[in-house]
Amino acid sequence: MVVKQILRIAVVVALAGFTASAQTATPSRTRGHVQTLASEKLEGRMAGSPGERLAAEYIARELTRLGAKPLPGLKDLFHPFEFTAGTKDDGSTISVANGGSAPVAFSRTDHVQALSFSDNAEVTGPVVFAGYGLVVPETQKFGYDSYVGLDVKDKIVLVLRYFPEDADLETRAILARYSDLRYKAMAARQRGAKAILVLSGPRSPNAGATIPMTFDTALAGSGIVAASISGDAGRAIFAGAADKSLEETQKSMDTGNPHATGFAIPNVTVTVKAAVQRETQTGRNVVAYLPATSPTSGVEKPWVALGAHYDHLGRGRNGNSLAGKEEAGRIHYGADDNASGTAAVLAIAETLSKQPRRRNVVVGFWSAEEIGLIGSNAFVNKPPVPSDQLAAYLNFDMVGRMVDNKLTVQATGSSPVWNRIIEQANVAAGFELVLQPDPYQPTDVASFNGAGVPSLSFFTSTHTDYHRPGDTADKINYEDLDRIVDFAVAIVKRIGDTPEAPQFTKVQQQTDTAGRAGVRVFTGTIPDYATNVKGLLLGGVIGGGPAEAAGLLKGDVIVEIAGQSIANIYDYTYALELLKVGVPVKIVYMRGSERRETTLTPGARK
Ligand SMILES: [Zn+2]
Repeated sequence: MVVKQILRIAVVVALAGFTASAQTATPSRTRGHVQTLASEKLEGRMAGSPGERLAAEYIARELTRLGAKPLPGLKDLFHPFEFTAGTKDDGSTISVANGGSAPVAFSRTDHVQALSFSDNAEVTGPVVFAGYGLVVPETQKFGYDSYVGLDVKDKIVLVLRYFPEDADLETRAILARYSDLRYKAMAARQRGAKAILVLSGPRSPNAGATIPMTFDTALAGSGIVAASISGDAGRAIFAGAADKSLEETQKSMDTGNPHATGFAIPNVTVTVKAAVQRETQTGRNVVAYLPATSPTSGVEKPWVALGAHYDHLGRGRNGNSLAGKEEAGRIHYGADDNASGTAAVLAIAETLSKQPRRRNVVVGFWSAEEIGLIGSNAFVNKPPVPSDQLAAYLNFDMVGRMVDNKLTVQATGSSPVWNRIIEQANVAAGFELVLQPDPYQPTDVASFNGAGVPSLSFFTSTHTDYHRPGDTADKINYEDLDRIVDFAVAIVKRIGDTPEAPQFTKVQQQTDTAGRAGVRVFTGTIPDYATNVKGLLLGGVIGGGPAEAAGLLKGDVIVEIAGQSIANIYDYTYALELLKVGVPVKIVYMRGSERRETTLTPGARK
């Protein structure tokens, strides 16, 4: 599961009150798979890593043993896709020319370092100091704009990192929300600046230090050159403003007084080259199918799909680990998340492979789930089997820690048939079921629901080892995991053997996926985070929401909203701050190569 949202679902399960499963006469059908996938050798199966490749090969071997076949159009059981695995500085430089004297050049990353979202380019120009570079949208009725009275067009903007140090708590709380580096960069770009330089001021935390590159899965730059610079480089620029010291200037800004403004720095010309190396890696889904055992003519939507993500966090270095200090850097075994689901799907496939099937059964093992559902999105975006041929999709993510016979089934709102089918299958299984209609879950089921496929996701709830090195194979409750396998087989058979396909219901989403804390408006858009485009690509629109009413469709790319240009998801999120409930705004979007306009009226978030 993806970390952000699961924390909302349940912060901590008070006690890890499972009991180790007793040895029984029947050997477990899942234990061997979990032990292999969650072994030391696979090193936590991080997408794109050698451990991920070994896991994929193991899964493919198991599928081949069951007689599963490559999907139409694929030569083998692997479905590769590209993603950004990280960024690093690739030799950014800055040189400061003050009047007639020789330029001072800086090149090491402790003096100049590109921000992870920077464009790769070299620019030269005069410098304007714009204070903290903060712009609070008018809608906040707060009145703070670092750019008031400054002309930054075609200039290089120098701003301080963070927000005014001495301001009262309330002011800081408001300004902090707009102090994100991406937001500052967007504000500079929208005012025509060529580049933005960020300096941690002498009165701030990390004074004079450049900003380490963060993990950023965006595939493209944000439309402006952006770099952090050292105190030395900052002072070299400030030398052009003879009457003002950096320290005194920061102090005058630090009260939060909105009238303390920036100024152009005369006599100085700066050349900055930002170089970001985005490391593109290849991840691999493992996909296959068990062909129907009888002719599929007369069967509506002759495919049914099962899936689980098999990637995990490696050693947890990408910011999504919840490891404590003493565990940091250790292998995150991911036995429950999600060797358990992977083992379940393999075991379900094994059972189904020995039985008659009226539908073809797709089995999908997704990678790069942990960094944003990237593998399953890649699959539904270019599906080897068209989504409208899939009768249903069943997802398994964290199904190995059942406590007190309790099983959560999510996304039940995606078809009217689910409650009845689940109830019937549970007569034999006898679980304490928790049914959750919401399909907008932080796991791959969201990708399939977004593609209009009736979906379910199985989950045995979170625990204290979630996203930590302690999620190990010895803690899995194999007996109950095997019961989930039988339960799922019963459900697949009910779908598989009925000539009619389940009807899809579009569930209204309660909150925008793009919403940040404090965003009050609801637009009904579902951003696609995984694809490399300039603008905001829509992975879908929420049924009954404002975007649907505006005529927007999956695949449209929003490039402007309320007069703000949109280069990426972050711009879009910030643009939402400007919108008011019930007040229509103009949206410019690309449909294919055609530029179109529409009007969207935001609703209120619940
Ligand atoms: Zn996870």
